[in-house]
Amino acid sequence: MKRIITGLLVLLVLVVAGAWVVRGKIALRIMERRLATAMANPVVPSLPDGLHVAVCGAGGPFPDHDRGGPCTAVIAGKRMFVVDTGEAAGRTMGRMGLFGSDFTVLLTHFHSDHIDGLGNVALQRWGGGALTTPLQLYGPAGVERVAAGFSEAYVLDSSYRTAHHGPKIMPPSTAGIQPRAFAIPEGQDSVVVLEEDGVKITAFRVNHGPIDPAVGYRFDYKGRSVVISGDTASSPIVAKYARGADLLVHEALSPVLVNLIREAALKAGNAKRAQIMHDILNYHTSPAEAAAIARDDKVGALLLNHIVPPLPLKALEGPFLGDARKVYTGPLWIARDGDLVSLPAGDRTITRKNLLH
Ligand SMILES: [Zn+2]
Ligand SMILES: [Zn+2]
Repeated sequence: MKRIITGLLVLLVLVVAGAWVVRGKIALRIMERRLATAMANPVVPSLPDGLHVAVCGAGGPFPDHDRGGPCTAVIAGKRMFVVDTGEAAGRTMGRMGLFGSDFTVLLTHFHSDHIDGLGNVALQRWGGGALTTPLQLYGPAGVERVAAGFSEAYVLDSSYRTAHHGPKIMPPSTAGIQPRAFAIPEGQDSVVVLEEDGVKITAFRVNHGPIDPAVGYRFDYKGRSVVISGDTASSPIVAKYARGADLLVHEALSPVLVNLIREAALKAGNAKRAQIMHDILNYHTSPAEAAAIARDDKVGALLLNHIVPPLPLKALEGPFLGDARKVYTGPLWIARDGDLVSLPAGDRTITRKNLLH
């Protein structure tokens, strides 16, 4: 009897060990196939002609499990533009398969949560494909200092990589960041910062005082349009440039939920945190205010991003939105990392899917 039990135990161990080995082999096979598919079909060139918005960071400055710091990639034809590079932007862009071909970065302003992923984004671009220049970084006055600071911080890293892989693979001439500062002329509220390959990008002033300059961007391509508000209190200038746009990507902060944090901080005796929660209310936009712009200016769809505060429970989306869905009855989405909203050229459709979930 004892021998039979021992035999059965040995058999069980062998079966479990065998299953473990087989499971590992299957996982390797799956990984091999996925890598082959990803390498053969990079996301950007495989998208249909038109405008596409890829959310590479839907959060704000708070630590958030579902949303990295602000990062919105706009793909127009074969070109890609990345608006803001918050923390984790490079990692999320990598997970979404957005690296491989060259791209340009545009900053809305220089709050830390919009730039703290810039170093990694520039590095991933440098290691990702054939390039002819350093990363082109557009932004209002001040972008030169940001570019110089990040370039300097990465000087040693890039020298190591050139030494290790050789200058043919990692050429110093395409490392680092080249600033492309623009200014909105006095008395005007916008300036066209780039017009190439059928893409027109207009930067417009927003209301994020005391942060000045701070801008949003409008992208026009083959009759389709996307407007990105950047950080702003509800602003008539955003409304002006969003007028008739196919998609408005607007920042959103819930005063109700931020006040909950403020009250909790007060109860815990953290007056500093409570004051900061009070102060941030006056330079952001509530979901209902963003919805009012979408309604009044006949926007095709509204994607809320820069979600503040984080929404750790799905059921918090209702309280976060407040009256927004009553105010605007068109398509309204709360952005999540990995979202891809597509506006094909030549028709009026707008579709959304998620590349990560
Ligand atoms: Zn921000
Ligand atoms: Zn800001």
